[in-house]
Amino acid sequence: MALLDVRNVGKAFGSLKALDDVSFSVNAGEIFGIAGPNGSGKSTLFNTITGIPFGPDRGKVLLDGAEIQGKSGNDIARMGLARTFQRETSFDKLTVFENAMIGATYGGRQATPTAQRDNAAEALDVVGIAAKDFGRLAEELSVFDRKCLMLATAVAMGPRILLLDEPASGLTKPEIETSIGLIRKIAARGITIVLIEHVLTFLMTLSQHLLVLNQGQMLAMGDPKTVISDPRVVEAYLGT
Ligand code: ADP
Ligand code: MG
Repeated sequence: MALLDVRNVGKAFGSLKALDDVSFSVNAGEIFGIAGPNGSGKSTLFNTITGIPFGPDRGKVLLDGAEIQGKSGNDIARMGLARTFQRETSFDKLTVFENAMIGATYGGRQATPTAQRDNAAEALDVVGIAAKDFGRLAEELSVFDRKCLMLATAVAMGPRILLLDEPASGLTKPEIETSIGLIRKIAARGITIVLIEHVLTFLMTLSQHLLVLNQGQMLAMGDPKTVISDPRVVEAYLGT
């Protein structure tokens, strides 16, 4: 059985069909890539899966066989599904460690206060934030470090599945290389990953399956190599 099963999901904003009959399954342990031009519905898909800020208008979302569509974002997070946002998002006036503690406290893990602190520190270590920086305010960090902090906060939740929305956007080439390493490291911890990226090469390197969206619809899905050579995908990306 798939860990995440998205079935015939639809979401409209007025007359705009942001998602139209989207279905896919993510197996435990894999990195599942989602690509598509700007405005194709990628972030809306994550919003509808996580219930943050809204669920789907139609269709079902199953996490480990249990229907989660219509549940609150908080409940879904407690069931073991975490996400990051396209824009680096943190509690700017809290410290680095306090941010990670929010993940450790509100995630799916039952943990004692001491274990929560250990989980927060470990998650920060995984993304390469040094202990000497734990007391700094989130707003003092660079864009890259704030992205890493957002990732650490999600990892501190101890999710079974982690949804990453364009982790490479706005990063330099060396930072992108570092991010690829971090995502591999997180996957190696047994966390299943769904990865949205506009940059196809990033997805080609990391994902076992690839879904391409275009104008809210599924354009192609399957083995990444096959998908990116699909003429419809080439056309959507090159805009012929
Ligand atoms: P992507 O992440 O692939 O760039 P989005 O999912 O952000 O695309 O957006 C898909 C479409 O839905 C776009 O046309 C966008 O303008 C529209 N959209 C997204 N969120 C909202 C919203 N909250 N209200 C109205 N329209 C929205
Ligand atoms: Mg987006």
